[in-house]
Amino acid sequence: MAKYVFVTGGVTSSLGKGIIAASLAKLLQSRGLNVTIQKFDPYINVDPGTLNPYEHGECYVTVDGAETDLDLGHYERFLNISTSQANNVTTGRIYQTVINKERAGDYLGKTVQIIPHITDEIKRRMLLLGEGGDYDVVITEIGGTVGDIESLPYLEAIRQLTRELGVNDSVSIHLTLIPYLSAAKELKTKPTQHSVKELLMTGIQPDILVCRTERSLTKEIRDKLALFCNVNKNSVIEAIDAESIYDVPLLMLKEKLDSIVMSKLKIKGKHDPQLDNWKHFLGMLKNPTDTVNIGLIGKYNELQDAYKSILESFVHAGAVNECKVNIVSIHSESLEFGDVGEKLQHLDGVLIAPGFGERGTEGKIEAIKYVREQGIPFFGICLGLQMAVIEYARHVLDLAKATSEEIKPRSKTKVIHLMPEQVKVKQKGGTMRLGSYECEIKKPSLAYKIYKSTSIQERHRHRYEINNEYLSDLEGAGLIASGINPLTNLVEIMELPGHQFFIGVQFHPELKSTVENPHPLFVSFVSAAKSYKHEKA
Ligand code: GLN
Repeated sequence: MAKYVFVTGGVTSSLGKGIIAASLAKLLQSRGLNVTIQKFDPYINVDPGTLNPYEHGECYVTVDGAETDLDLGHYERFLNISTSQANNVTTGRIYQTVINKERAGDYLGKTVQIIPHITDEIKRRMLLLGEGGDYDVVITEIGGTVGDIESLPYLEAIRQLTRELGVNDSVSIHLTLIPYLSAAKELKTKPTQHSVKELLMTGIQPDILVCRTERSLTKEIRDKLALFCNVNKNSVIEAIDAESIYDVPLLMLKEKLDSIVMSKLKIKGKHDPQLDNWKHFLGMLKNPTDTVNIGLIGKYNELQDAYKSILESFVHAGAVNECKVNIVSIHSESLEFGDVGEKLQHLDGVLIAPGFGERGTEGKIEAIKYVREQGIPFFGICLGLQMAVIEYARHVLDLAKATSEEIKPRSKTKVIHLMPEQVKVKQKGGTMRLGSYECEIKKPSLAYKIYKSTSIQERHRHRYEINNEYLSDLEGAGLIASGINPLTNLVEIMELPGHQFFIGVQFHPELKSTVENPHPLFVSFVSAAKSYKHEKA
């Protein structure tokens, strides 16, 4: 039977519960245990797919096509495993299930209530992943902060489950903040005391406190926290600010978070932590021998979380290349006036980000024209590929009005158009082309050189595609489709032979890059940027 770890957060949001959960999971995994992580989000959206990136950061897509919270990206990047729809549950989904059951008459005339019906559905989903026999440990992260009204049913579910499972089968971790008051020159424990009190009011006694802090916790502070919050002294864990999120597993190892969890759950690892690959990665990450400047052109640049997986993929790819990747964030709208060259000429590579809607698209097209003509390495993802096709159609095929159906639905030159199966779709939630699809790669091509395979699987999230009516003209003019979906004939990859590095993909490679498996497209792009930089010099 699986054992369960529950992670809640207190004092403030954004303390990095996802990173702590992923780090603990990494350590348990490094001891030979099978671990997975799930996230329960207390908002009413059925999934984050309908959320604007400004609200909640990037929407992460799993292999099975679920639109999920970006923390699932951290879980996959740390653990090198795939997650699924079951790993992310929202209040909206819980209520949807309960209400559907009520409409079906499944509650046999009973009054349907938060307790027990909503909490039962939460508990059922909390246990689900642990029931198949695949996992020794299931870690459940609860989104939000203790004290939020909307978290209450989740905390109640944890309270009930902890009793039902028994003391050796579950453990509760509470992540809090220990602020440093510079005026008093002191770390303060009071917010944590209050947060634990709030948790106790829901009937949950945390077993372990993980304390985010800018400064080391002294023995006195640890003892005080243990006393006031009723946890063992060895269960007060310091989570000091780290240079990189990838340092956190090793910091947690030093604090013995994994050993404490294992001893509370009465489980043993199969061996001591095996973290050689992880340490090797960190070594590469921290000792770069080169630097490249990559322009990230998008429209959600104000919020770094909007491009989380892309940024992390560059961290992985930079390490492989022993190269620091300096991301220069450029707002696509800012390229719509003024001199594009002035903003892009110092870059060693340009990535055009995924996106939706018209805003900023002309700026992206201007940028692509510039990098194509100047020979600067180019990498387009999803909307980035679509804009590259429009740019080529306009300036090389002389189709001055070439556009996408997403931008001008009535245009006569839609080189990007709605996929046929999307035409009838009216609902927004969960209706895009989502999840993993096969792509066949042609040889010889840059794509084949990068992947070293003729068949790949990549994840998708889009409604529009390249209009195959224009494909022979585009190819005739030099922009080659080097990756095609063998079942639907949809173009998946396009490239420009003869250019230093010019490739666009309809899928989202950034969702597959992990510490142990950096994505080859990002690795090759960084390497091309390095070569470009040195040739230019
Ligand atoms: N808006 C485009 C589409 O739906 C691209 C989507 C994306 O970049 N993820 O096809």
